[in-house]
Amino acid sequence: MSVYNSLDSITEELHKCMKCGNCQAVCPIYKETRQEVGVARGKISLAEFILSGEIEMTAGMADRFSLCTTCMACNTNCPCGVRFDKIILAARAEAVRKQGVHSVKKIAFTALKMQRMFDFGMKAGSIFQGVGLKRIPNKHSRMARMRVDIGIGKEKVFPMLAGKTLRSEFPEVIKVKNPKMRVALFTGCMINYFYTDMGRAVVEVLAEQDIEVIIPKGQGCCGIPASVNGDVVSARVMAKRNLRAFEKLGADALVVACSSCGTAWKHVFGELLENDPEFKGLADKWAGKSYDISEFLIHKVPFKKEGLGRVARKVTYHDPCHLNRGQGIYKEPREILKSIPGVELIEMKEPGRCCGMAGSFSLVHPDLSVLISDRKTADIAQTHTDTVATGCPACRLQLQSGVENAGLDEEVLHAVQILAQSYRAGKK
Ligand code: SF4
Ligand code: SF4
Repeated sequence: MSVYNSLDSITEELHKCMKCGNCQAVCPIYKETRQEVGVARGKISLAEFILSGEIEMTAGMADRFSLCTTCMACNTNCPCGVRFDKIILAARAEAVRKQGVHSVKKIAFTALKMQRMFDFGMKAGSIFQGVGLKRIPNKHSRMARMRVDIGIGKEKVFPMLAGKTLRSEFPEVIKVKNPKMRVALFTGCMINYFYTDMGRAVVEVLAEQDIEVIIPKGQGCCGIPASVNGDVVSARVMAKRNLRAFEKLGADALVVACSSCGTAWKHVFGELLENDPEFKGLADKWAGKSYDISEFLIHKVPFKKEGLGRVARKVTYHDPCHLNRGQGIYKEPREILKSIPGVELIEMKEPGRCCGMAGSFSLVHPDLSVLISDRKTADIAQTHTDTVATGCPACRLQLQSGVENAGLDEEVLHAVQILAQSYRAGKK
């Protein structure tokens, strides 16, 4: 039974928990709050009480389930193999069934479902963003802070909206001479609207491999913000829209450069659409040919080493939770980085520790998000590198904010951007 349909679906997972508390040692929330409700064990107890009818899923209870970055660190440190990721998703879906979607999130998810209107809003936002955002001087990136504190963290640094979205920069089919295969790029929202440089790097690197890239115009948000917040109805609408758009053009494989989008295509769509006879098959089909870009370049079409030029960078790599624990991808980006002439990879203390971004978590719990981020930034500072590489635009945002506030001169990039730089250097 899908975790999105009923709280009963996690009964077995709840029974596996022996309340040992091992999850405390790795939970980024518990590390900062020292409160039992912050950790998996505390939330498991709450879910058990709700299932047994001893307590109700009130609004206050829903708030407690919001205290989780869904980093999955507790999964890996649990001696009983409890899949807390399933528990938290089921609990949040139950919270929405009982309490409805929070009004602010409801507006956001409704907008994400109306793609044309959303595009228009983001375009208008890119023109008028100076009203709410104050640009900060940074030689690496276009970044800004909020002019007025609206409760989402006044210290937070944001990337500025791109003047042109990634999807409008390219034709739907990007042709190459004698293509060896056809790959569909799922851009995701952050890469489409903010970090278009990441998307351009993906297209550039795939073209180097003689791959024809298609960017279906009908795609939109992957729906992870909705599914992670329990709005299963909206998440299903978004999943179906994407499946339709990609099925229409067809491709040998689908590539993403965002860890959450990758999780959506590989794991979430199938579970969301479990009871939908029309779309379940499509979701499974596309899940089987979805790849993170680093996974694709190592396992599917090994990237060309000839033609790589020197890129002198001291790089440390941050593992996005949904790429590392969610998809088991951590060797691949490192392999790419180590292949680039001139790149020195220096590991930070705990590269797999959550950066504290977690999508809307960082907006709902800004102070906690910054505390978690500060630990990550301190680990980065100790590496004495000049570049932080990662595999997710959301992590990039959080890491950029952290290093900027700490006064570190670190450029934060996706690993594939450094690979694209290397191909460019090789042509000089
Ligand atoms: S580590 Fe696993 S078994 Fe132990 S309390 Fe946490 S979830 Fe339960
Ligand atoms: S998923 Fe991460 S944040 Fe959530 S309870 Fe587990 S360790 Fe803590």
